[in-house]
Amino acid sequence: MSTFEEERAQESASVPADPCSGGDVRCSDAVARLWEYVDSELGELDRNRIAAHLAECRPCLEEEQVELVMKQLVRRCCQEEAPATLRLRIHEQITVLRLRAAAGPDA
Ligand SMILES: [Zn+2]
Repeated sequence: MSTFEEERAQESASVPADPCSGGDVRCSDAVARLWEYVDSELGELDRNRIAAHLAECRPCLEEEQVELVMKQLVRRCCQEEAPATLRLRIHEQITVLRLRAAAGPDA
């Protein structure tokens, strides 16, 4: 009987050696694509990869919150997509507010 060997063979075949599963996205890549991510402009594959990274990376998850707030602000102010300079200014404002909030009530 070679049942045991057959099972092992099937098992190893069903688990591909995929180095790209899970958090293979670098923080710089994740942040660079966050705007597309929150704006639902990414394909399903990229979206899943960013989501997997956010699930494991708290700094990038907080960055996503910033992008989401900014998206709401931009949508409220503009019909068209905001220019990059406006996005940058809003991003700076939110980052300052966030740092101030993290510093405590005295700041
Ligand atoms: Zn990250």
